[in-house]
Amino acid sequence: VPVARIRNFCIIAHIDHGKSTLADRLLQATGTVADRDMKAQFLDNMELERERGITIKLQAARMNYKAKDGQQYVLNLIDTPGHVDFSYEVSRSLAACEGALLVVDASQGVEAQTLANVYLALENNLEIIPVLNKIDLPGAEPERVKKEIEEIIGLDCSGAILASAKEGIGIDEILESIVHLIPAPQDTVSQPLRALIFDSYYDSYRGVIVYFRVMDGTVKKGDRIRLMATGKEYEIDELGVLSPNQIQVGELHAGEVGYVAAAIKAVEDARVGDTITLAYEPAAEPLPGYAQAKPMVFCGMFPTDADRFPDLREALEKLKLNDAALSYEPETSSAMGFGFRCGFLGLLHMEIVQERLEREYNLDLIITAPSVIYRVTPVKGEILYIDNPSHLPDPQHREKIEEPYVQVDMITPEEYVGTLMELSQTRRGIFKDMKYLTQGRTTLSYELPLAEVVTDFFDQMKSRSRGYASMEYHLIGYRENPLVRLDILINNDPVDSLAMIVHRDKAYNVGRSLVEKLKELIPRHQFKIPLQAAIGSKIIASEHIPALRKDVLAKCYGGDISRKKKLLQKQAKGKKRMKAIGTVDVPQEAFMAVLRLD
Ligand code: GDP
Ligand code: MG
Repeated sequence: VPVARIRNFCIIAHIDHGKSTLADRLLQATGTVADRDMKAQFLDNMELERERGITIKLQAARMNYKAKDGQQYVLNLIDTPGHVDFSYEVSRSLAACEGALLVVDASQGVEAQTLANVYLALENNLEIIPVLNKIDLPGAEPERVKKEIEEIIGLDCSGAILASAKEGIGIDEILESIVHLIPAPQDTVSQPLRALIFDSYYDSYRGVIVYFRVMDGTVKKGDRIRLMATGKEYEIDELGVLSPNQIQVGELHAGEVGYVAAAIKAVEDARVGDTITLAYEPAAEPLPGYAQAKPMVFCGMFPTDADRFPDLREALEKLKLNDAALSYEPETSSAMGFGFRCGFLGLLHMEIVQERLEREYNLDLIITAPSVIYRVTPVKGEILYIDNPSHLPDPQHREKIEEPYVQVDMITPEEYVGTLMELSQTRRGIFKDMKYLTQGRTTLSYELPLAEVVTDFFDQMKSRSRGYASMEYHLIGYRENPLVRLDILINNDPVDSLAMIVHRDKAYNVGRSLVEKLKELIPRHQFKIPLQAAIGSKIIASEHIPALRKDVLAKCYGGDISRKKKLLQKQAKGKKRMKAIGTVDVPQEAFMAVLRLD
């Protein structure tokens, strides 16, 4: 097809507003996927993803569509991940498109994620087509939601499409609008090749499969390509389109979307946002907007069974092949032994990796509480970036500590504004802005230390608003604060993996609640266990766990053997996620206790 009949678009939506269902419907309506092959939600095909109802990885689909004008069009749908942790990837997918369907649940309205994605789309100059989804629901209020979109986003909604992805209403109108409202790509076939990578994944047979949009020029099978950020060169083994299964083609032109396989060893070598050009006829400049995704949240991971350290290393190596944003370094903890300090884009990314390590690699891990990166100016020497609280230099060796701040934007029904303000304030938030929208809905913005957000801010926001509020955040920079290292001592030994960095004014309360929590979580032993919180040499809170009085088997009166066995088994199970720290068995929950302080 000529460039004039190509349309590249994505769907932006808040979680659960119907993005995947609509994508499926479009694939069906265009005959791209036969009805009988239609697995529910074709585009979200990772197991984890489906379970959590989130979109983690980007994928693309090429559809052939015969429009009402009688012409044959190619519509490329580029799917975007639906979570703030992956907003860089979202921005690169949007950069590969000329337009976007903005899907808003007509029974809900605009949410924080809708807004964040719309701003990204506007930055990329996309044509935005508003779609009010779920109009089949009795609670749908398309008129109210239209007004909301107009007021918050300033987008004309007179032409908004009323749709039900579930019932198949409005699908034809959506397809026609894509053809008529979204501009065709520019015809830059005669220029040197520049293709934007918007996704990649590792395949153990073919190496990395790279998804891209050709922005300028032409790419052919067998071409020698260069990745402009890394400078590395490869021969194309396989070139194709996604319909949505991979179908090989000989060449792809400006405006088209496809994939290559070129024996690339890890996704790190073909990063999202990088530009593909030809080795023998390279473009002068790469496409704008390339950045390397940086981990923002860190934690320690230790196998409960020390013998499995090599397995953990191997598993991380494998995951890394497919995840350029994951970082890991060996860490030796005096309390926990050998493990890794791992870095993630955000909390969801962290949870996904942890879950995969446990599920797919069958590892039992003790995971320490998440931390952020602190910027420390020492009295002498160069600036340090500290991702592990136990590495914070002592006060006499440091001039200042700075911590990352984010702007958090929330959208909530009016009645929860008070409780969300209170939450933000107790998390050291600085009020920025509040606006009333339609029908008692409010936007609320705060600047917060990222450290306070990565604990349980999201869960608290959800529970305080009964699930009605939504939030987004983005990094705004580093700020100096009077921060201190809080050490936890179990049985008089400091436990490095429980150390944390807290604001001086909160240290006393955090220390007190933490030792109380640990007292609940650590089981009784044959001896008394002192628990303390300290700043430097100063103990600020202390408790103890009394010694165990009775042996668990004493109950059995020495008689019933099978009952004895059962009890022992039960005990063993309870011990599964324990780490022996000195002579004390500490359960996994204890390392996360800081996330559950009230
Ligand atoms: P996503 O998170 O944006 O990808 O949303 P999904 O497509 O996974 O949809 C979330 C939920 O809303 C699922 O249970 C869908 O079945 C449901 N859903 C999607 N579209 C519609 C619709 O038009 N009407 C109704 N009633 N439910 C819908
Ligand atoms: Mg989805």
